[in-house]
Amino acid sequence: MKTVEEVWGLLRGHVMAREAVETELTDALGAVLREDVKTPEDQPAFDRSAVDGFVVRADDPSESFRVVGEIRPGDGRRHTFAAGEAARIATGAAVPEGGEVIMLEDAEASGDMVRFARRGLDHVRRRGEDAKAGDVVASAGTLIGAGTIGLLASVGCVRPKVTRALDALHVATGNEIVGAEQSPSAGQVRDSNSPLVAAWARSRGLRIRQKRVGEDADSLRRAIEGHRDLLLVSGGASVGGYDCTEEVLDAAGFEILVTKVAVRPGKPLIVGRRGEAWAFGLPGNPLSHFVCLHVFVDAVLSMIRGGPAAPMLRKARLSSSVAGNPRETWWPAVEETNGLHPLAWTSSGDLTALATADALVRVPPSGLAAGAEAEFIRIT
Ligand code: AMP
Ligand code: MG
Repeated sequence: MKTVEEVWGLLRGHVMAREAVETELTDALGAVLREDVKTPEDQPAFDRSAVDGFVVRADDPSESFRVVGEIRPGDGRRHTFAAGEAARIATGAAVPEGGEVIMLEDAEASGDMVRFARRGLDHVRRRGEDAKAGDVVASAGTLIGAGTIGLLASVGCVRPKVTRALDALHVATGNEIVGAEQSPSAGQVRDSNSPLVAAWARSRGLRIRQKRVGEDADSLRRAIEGHRDLLLVSGGASVGGYDCTEEVLDAAGFEILVTKVAVRPGKPLIVGRRGEAWAFGLPGNPLSHFVCLHVFVDAVLSMIRGGPAAPMLRKARLSSSVAGNPRETWWPAVEETNGLHPLAWTSSGDLTALATADALVRVPPSGLAAGAEAEFIRIT
């Protein structure tokens, strides 16, 4: 049985990033940027007014100014004005050279004259103050979020280089599993793992195909035929007579690197590798399934995409104590202002804590006392 650290170490040593390709900016959400993106111009590219107000010459000490014009955003004309003159200016409009912007709130206009209660505040976003032409504004390895997309668009990067689309497949196994829309008969269980995996993938910008098969090795073998970058099999990962994931992955040419991990919930976890392709046999129990997705599969997905190696571990204090277990536990919790609040869960099949959980707390075998600092991952 391997420890969590051992599995992460093994993955770090073996997972390689797939090739990078250009993509449409709108399709890049959730992808990892594979190039350093530079801004071709200074940002901002010209002095821009940060407020609505008036512009006068900065060296003009007049008390009162005649309003001689108006400068609006997009106005590319060259404006000049003499001592004693002012122009109205709108937020985002280009500030003439040597101009000082005074906000509307500090101005008192009467007729075509204006006076100012205050001067000397710099209400201008200066050319190049955010970044200079040629500066890297987003580096390779950045996970692309909505904000990154806005940034890339602002520097004209409309076809960023990201990892190519992955061929990912999820197969849910088990004779007892029926669609979540069905009313289970005696002994049947609704398939919660497939919708869970679909949502997990969607939130990571990963397109994943999904299938559901029964308990037999032949069905699973047929379901996984062909090349995959990432293959996830739910259920059949433990040692029961009908648990065939390991056997099927092995027969399909995967080198089995892990069969059990000292983690709770989630012990029966299979990890296999075939060339650049990775396969996971995930425990069918829904909470285990969820923990393994976040603790292990995310790490592989990130590395395949050229991102960081292990899940991002954050730190916070626990608001109440949690008991340890010989296996490292990843405990569902809610992040609150006074720390992490651990939630109750009864078994690896108990999904009820996930109604509100937004964190998984890493609990060492010795347990954690109330107030102790704990490592956690944010779950999505
Ligand atoms: P297994 O890993 O196949 O031994 O399954 C362990 C437990 O998880 C069993 O109680 C299964 O019924 C349950 N389980 C397996 N797959 C799913 C699924 N897709 N959705 C919900 N529960 C499942
Ligand atoms: Mg099963």
